[in-house]
Amino acid sequence: MEKMKCSKCGNPTSVGFVLETGYYYALSVSQWVEGKPKESFWDNGLNLDGKAEYPITAYRCTNCGHLEFYAYAQGEENTSLQEKKQHIHPI
Ligand SMILES: [Zn+2]
Repeated sequence: MEKMKCSKCGNPTSVGFVLETGYYYALSVSQWVEGKPKESFWDNGLNLDGKAEYPITAYRCTNCGHLEFYAYAQGEENTSLQEKKQHIHPI
């Protein structure tokens, strides 16, 4: 996979994720959810109403610590990186 560069200083980034601890300290990856949050007493705090959810991928710059978040659909990550490279470095 191609390395993501930091948008602030141009140095390489390390790929990671945002950790979420749930009920009984169950570990999971934080999700991006479409739209605004809607509170609900019956749905563990928030009602998602079938909204789109994508796991958050976080790139951390190895030089300045800047974080960039992406919420890829399944299989979308490689396509997005290639499209971004073409916009930055047109052939
Ligand atoms: Zn940086």
